[in-house]
Amino acid sequence: GNYVVAIDGPAASGKSTLARKLASRLGLLMVNSGAIYRAITWEIVRENINPEDSDAVISALEKIDIETGRNGGVSTIRINGVQPGDELRSEVVNSNVSAVSAIPKVREKVVQLLRDHLEHSSLVMEGRDIATIVFPDTPYKIYITAAEHVRAARRHKVGEVDSVKRRDAADSGRKTAPLKVADGAEILDTSDHTIESGVDAAIEILKR
Ligand code: C5P
Repeated sequence: GNYVVAIDGPAASGKSTLARKLASRLGLLMVNSGAIYRAITWEIVRENINPEDSDAVISALEKIDIETGRNGGVSTIRINGVQPGDELRSEVVNSNVSAVSAIPKVREKVVQLLRDHLEHSSLVMEGRDIATIVFPDTPYKIYITAAEHVRAARRHKVGEVDSVKRRDAADSGRKTAPLKVADGAEILDTSDHTIESGVDAAIEILKR
């Protein structure tokens, strides 16, 4: 059967890069769950809906068509027929995605979409609740961390406007599916790793 490597961790911990490289080394589909929360947030903002107004977000969500697919080794998303690009990492999305993703009905919908991916292939999936909620039974769980200053430097290098601290506080403090280390997860601190040595370390963890 198909299986999942679950990669969770805070913002700018290096988990996306690691998950992408790991998926390509293992020949698995890489699914970035944050991209779905970001795409929904982008659409909500585009429709001029207040992301803090959960009732308004929920009724908009019922009309939003979300379609997932794949392009090479990476999952893709279309929202109302449009495939968003760099907008997903814009300041307005960075600053509103935590509010949208804290809404239980939003999470329910995204979790279902995420689980559906497993029907087609084995996966590396990265996010905040993959090992705790989406696929709690997978034996492959890695929690990625990095020192605060390393994470800040990484974001700075990318040139993104993102208050990582605020987003992490919201993602860890919410009631539904807060970011935390799952039972049975191995912690991998990437502070002193290069990208390649981080992938090697992840593969070592999976072999245990
Ligand atoms: O991973 P990324 O930083 O792109 O995720 C953007 C946001 O989406 C997170 O800050 C969080 O609010 C939300 N998210 C989530 N659960 C996931 C993945 C992302 O709540 N599994």
